[in-house]
Amino acid sequence: MNIHEYQAKDVLKGYGVRIQEGIVASTPEEAHEAAVKLNAQTGTSWFVIKAQIHAGGRGKGEVKETGSRGVVLAKKLDDVKEKAAAILGGTLVTIQTGAEGKKVNKVLIAEDVYYPGASEPKEYYMSILLDRATGSNVIMASTEGGMDIEEVAEHHPEKIIKEWIDPKVGLQGFQARKVAFKLGLSGTAHKEMVKFIGSLYAAYVGTDSSQFEINPVLKTSDDKILAVDAKVNLDDNSLYRQPILAELRDLAEEDPLEVEAGESGLNYVKLDGNVGCMVNGAGLAMATMDMIKLSGGEPANFLDVGGGANATTVEAGFRIILKDPNVKAILINVFGGIVRCDRIANGVVEAYKSISNIRIPIIVRLQGTNAAEGAKIIDDSGLKVFSAITLKEAAERVKAAL
Ligand code: GDP
Ligand code: MN
Repeated sequence: MNIHEYQAKDVLKGYGVRIQEGIVASTPEEAHEAAVKLNAQTGTSWFVIKAQIHAGGRGKGEVKETGSRGVVLAKKLDDVKEKAAAILGGTLVTIQTGAEGKKVNKVLIAEDVYYPGASEPKEYYMSILLDRATGSNVIMASTEGGMDIEEVAEHHPEKIIKEWIDPKVGLQGFQARKVAFKLGLSGTAHKEMVKFIGSLYAAYVGTDSSQFEINPVLKTSDDKILAVDAKVNLDDNSLYRQPILAELRDLAEEDPLEVEAGESGLNYVKLDGNVGCMVNGAGLAMATMDMIKLSGGEPANFLDVGGGANATTVEAGFRIILKDPNVKAILINVFGGIVRCDRIANGVVEAYKSISNIRIPIIVRLQGTNAAEGAKIIDDSGLKVFSAITLKEAAERVKAAL
């Protein structure tokens, strides 16, 4: 589960991570008030206005309606309201949102932390994630932080520092010092960075996160180290023991069909193709998507109805797939192992009848226990449902339907 930057910064702060302070706002008036408060709290007279959406690249992104960037600087208190108005309610398109963009419902009004001083402010990159290959956590850091980190990773992988942490032992002091040293820091900034890394790692473990990305981590002109941005990815499987974090979920940021599927206990991911599919088991679902591609279609979704598929789950799956206007045909591919094919076939027929207005062909491939009985139920139903027993038949049916 993803959370917003302003939420992530709150969480990090709770673990002692220094952050760029800010106050969230939902209207231009609130944005102005937030700036007034922030000025009183921190003394800042410049303000950064940051669109809160679950996607990165905001600084370079553009609000469709107004042309504003997703992160802008106001050098006067009196500019905050207008600049926030150019972002709030707009559709922000960034490299990560796709062309349709994302609606901005909130902005974070943050203190300016790039103020001049003894040294130049410097941006670093830092992330912590699970490295499945080694079964450990890894801290990745770079001196090339800021908005072009993807290019650095692609063209200068040597500029990414990696430090692996054994989850049983935890982060050791020397490891944090090593990262700070490799980032070229010394003196106060080095000490601050070591502290920053320690708190950040504690937050990563304490929140059961699967990924943290802090880009940029800023060394201010007076050698403070703080998080200017924060992407926190929580492990969905741990949310049951993180009730406070689970509350931070913002359904407005998620695909409505995926939210609905989650409520029905279905494992659904929306894609942009034209053949909907409903399968039991993730492996068979992947193979089915390959088959759809081989027959000239594009999968409209991934949908695993799980091992206990029955009429109710089939109906929920149907309804979700049918809400996607791109779908031209639906392929149901079920292996009858624990479930029997005749029961699935009855489930399909029942679900079909209970949903009015199905205008697209439905191809059902049932294989395994009672496959022949299942196919007969489909064929005798009198509905626009086609049975197939072999994968080849199913593929041909899909091809014919497109
Ligand atoms: P992202 O583009 O979605 O990753 O958003 P970020 O939170 O990383 O902000 C984008 C950029 O805005 C940063 O890389 C900075 O260059 C700039 N920025 C953020 N905070 C400040 C600030 O306090 N002052 C100034 N001058 N620029 C800032
Ligand atoms: Mn960023």
